[in-house]
Amino acid sequence: MTVKIESHIASGETVIEMQKVNKWYGEFHVLKDIDLTVSKGERIVICGPSGSGKSTLIRCINHLEEHQEGTITVNGTVLNENMKNITHIRREVGMVFQQFNLFPHMTILDNLCFAPVWARNMPRDEAEETACRYLERVGIGAQKDKYPGQLSGGQQQRVAIARSLCMNPSVMLFDEPTSALDPEMIKEVLDVMIELADTGMTMICVTHEMAFARSVADRVIFMDGGEIVEENTPNAFFDNPQVDRTQKFLSQIL
Ligand code: ADP
Ligand code: MG
Repeated sequence: MTVKIESHIASGETVIEMQKVNKWYGEFHVLKDIDLTVSKGERIVICGPSGSGKSTLIRCINHLEEHQEGTITVNGTVLNENMKNITHIRREVGMVFQQFNLFPHMTILDNLCFAPVWARNMPRDEAEETACRYLERVGIGAQKDKYPGQLSGGQQQRVAIARSLCMNPSVMLFDEPTSALDPEMIKEVLDVMIELADTGMTMICVTHEMAFARSVADRVIFMDGGEIVEENTPNAFFDNPQVDRTQKFLSQIL
């Protein structure tokens, strides 16, 4: 992973905009004045210590968590209580979790067809065609009739990525997608993510995979205590962190 993927940032078109976003869990202030703008085609890596609010931040973007103050806008739609807006935004945003969250009692193919058929009214044959195309792309084509439990963790995570792509999202959020995997399976998932980045997909990835961040990210964001503490291009971030907290964190993981 030494080759730097060419940047795909399009001419300033904004996909996600967070302005002064604050969130509390009860008394606990988990997100503090988060400002984040993501342009079309941009690849962001978010890192930071456990408990710093990384998952909460990205989960707010598709309303898996609710924020209390500030504004989140996705492709021009403001995320508020309006269910129509929430549904609209969820169509735009794909999400891949640490635990793959596949439906265990459905075949791989059914996992991929379920949402397009039931939530989008896509004809089954069209959904299958799309599903097979994405399964091929992540190298799982031959496994489509198996159940999730019959696949390795790395294969399941690639299925989860393909499942998200079937919904044709305009941005993909990844929450530590390789953290639950055995070391030998991490690369096969990162390779799929690198290929996805190369297609120009807008991506926000919470990950501590630094080689991935260096080769793919346009920007690395460091969070601590619910705040964005520092952000920079990957090389500047890793080689010359400016803030004490970042330096301390990097010295622990590098
Ligand atoms: P990270 O992903 O950076 O590890 P999280 O966003 O998961 O951090 O969590 C940030 C903080 O919020 C942690 O201290 C965590 O314990 C707390 N937290 C997360 N989810 C909840 C919840 N549903 N209720 C209360 N506290 C929560
Ligand atoms: Mg997390």
